[in-house]
Amino acid sequence: MDEWYSDDYFIARERFRDAVQGLGGRLLSYRVPSLGPGGRELTTDVAIIGDASPSEVVLVSSGLHGIEGFFGSAVQLQLLDDLHRQHTYCSSKSWVLVHGLNPFGFAWLRRTDEQNVDLNRNFLIESDGFAGSPMGYAELDPILNPQRWMDRWDPMVFATRGAWLVWRRGLQQLKTIVAMGQYEFPRGLFYGGSRHSAAVSLLREHLTDWLDVAQGVLHLDLHTGLGRWASYRLLAQGDIGPERCLELKRHFGADHVEFSDCIRVAYPVRGSVGPWCQTHLSHVDYTYLCAEFGTYSPLRILAGLRKENHAHHWLPGDPEGTLQAKAELREMFCPRSVRWRSSVLAASRQLLMQARDWRPPSVANRGGVVR
Ligand SMILES: [Zn+2]
Repeated sequence: MDEWYSDDYFIARERFRDAVQGLGGRLLSYRVPSLGPGGRELTTDVAIIGDASPSEVVLVSSGLHGIEGFFGSAVQLQLLDDLHRQHTYCSSKSWVLVHGLNPFGFAWLRRTDEQNVDLNRNFLIESDGFAGSPMGYAELDPILNPQRWMDRWDPMVFATRGAWLVWRRGLQQLKTIVAMGQYEFPRGLFYGGSRHSAAVSLLREHLTDWLDVAQGVLHLDLHTGLGRWASYRLLAQGDIGPERCLELKRHFGADHVEFSDCIRVAYPVRGSVGPWCQTHLSHVDYTYLCAEFGTYSPLRILAGLRKENHAHHWLPGDPEGTLQAKAELREMFCPRSVRWRSSVLAASRQLLMQARDWRPPSVANRGGVVR
């Protein structure tokens, strides 16, 4: 299964485009303002596969967090191959695959875009405003985002301080303070930006066209770095009633689905893409699941993010240190372990089959036509 993982963004994009064209799907490419390594242009690519006027769509997006695109792209390439072989998927639904929602981060091995914006904190509903930070973030900022040379003892010092902070505040509260999204420290971690990004504009302009006349949309947004090693959680976000909660748990398994009122692995976030899409697709039965595949421990992930962010902003004269930090970050979000890679792809295949078969009573009762 290692074959579906690409060495870099450009290879992943070429494979995605080739696979879509091989399937006879509709391929759309949208150039973003920034450039990749070597001055090469960057695009978000969209594939539309299946019925020309679908009543139901499975929307699968990858790479909102740049570097997590290595995994998301592999899932999409595997899906395209499965669709090509037709051995596990029927054509009862259309698929809309969005490849590389943050192509800058994917190409440059960052989680953020060219403005250091965490795009999954940038989809604020207009009235919310880009301001503020969680209570306690400012106090942690000097630890999370050091603006000085870090000596060789720094990883140990950070691990010790991190363990102390977890003890003092509890892991869940610490996760919320650090990762909920902040709008005051532009070079800091989990910065949500000062305005809507190109990714928001892209979805605002084109999402409804991609979905065509679909009445029901199940959105799987692929992520890594949260949860137990090689396991996955489906984080349901947005306005979800009790009936839909039950339906999701029944269909995808109560162990996998997590809601904001019962958080175990995740934490509340501002500016997530799911609620934004739900607001902009008010005419559609839209369900968002953030599919998070676990890799390393939260503190190790945070240390990797901190190190790469520090290298990116404060070590421009140290390309070797920057490369090393980026390689470590890539390992945090797409481990080289063959066992991890094969088990998450096997789980993804199962998950996509469940997504294909998703048709809860509340959707079926609308009386839409399923082909
Ligand atoms: Zn992510």
